[in-house]
Amino acid sequence: MTEARIRLYVDQALAAGQPVALTEAQANYLFNVMRLVTGSRVRLFNGRDGEWLAVVEHVAKRGGVLRCSAQSAPLIAPPDLWLIFAPIKKTRTDFIVEKAVEMGAARILPVQTRYTNERLREDKLRAHAIEAAEQCEANYVPPVEDLVTFDRLLAGWDPARRILWADEGLRGRAALLRAPPGPWAILIGPEGGFAPEERAKLQAMSCVTPVSLGPRILRADTAAVAALTLWQSTLGDWVQA
Ligand code: SAM
Repeated sequence: MTEARIRLYVDQALAAGQPVALTEAQANYLFNVMRLVTGSRVRLFNGRDGEWLAVVEHVAKRGGVLRCSAQSAPLIAPPDLWLIFAPIKKTRTDFIVEKAVEMGAARILPVQTRYTNERLREDKLRAHAIEAAEQCEANYVPPVEDLVTFDRLLAGWDPARRILWADEGLRGRAALLRAPPGPWAILIGPEGGFAPEERAKLQAMSCVTPVSLGPRILRADTAAVAALTLWQSTLGDWVQA
């Protein structure tokens, strides 16, 4: 039997013996692009049930059916880390979502700050998150939430979840190594940075830990990767397997 090299996200339940009906796009990818035939094996994940081996049972022009055989990996959820970021230009926002999935964010929250003036297609970002999970062998897909305003986000904030605020005003002073474990969210600002009243709000919240990402001003997409790296390498699954 051939090795199942292809990994595919499906939005259906996965369990032993479960049939999985393919969409037209999935069938096109598997049968026309990857040239799979009846009996070929693929690996499936849906973000909830781990990863499953499945066999191609039926090939059709605009669809087809796979059947799950056995679970090949359990669901491995990332640590309880959210990424909050202010949307920037489209390709750079796509990059942030892709890297957030690869780096192991559990939830992605775009936030509208005072200096944010980019539009957002959340449906496209969700598709990017799925593609990133397919590519990096993750079997968890972090939800990408709808855009929310900065004030609304902070008004309903649970103080038990600490916020790691990437504060471009600090330059050089790093505090994270002394921070406690537990639920966290990273906050990255837009290209224009945070407005004075937003900075004041964050400074008044006791659950907020401002952090420097070094002496240079990073682009927001670089800052997101740098902050995720910092957190994962001190509090996350890079140090706690
Ligand atoms: N226009 C702003 C300025 O000149 O101060 C810079 C904004 S920066 C391009 C976008 C975001 O990345 C910031 O809001 C911050 O969250 C993060 N960031 C960039 N460089 C940083 C640094 N050295 N330390 C902490 N955060 C940084």
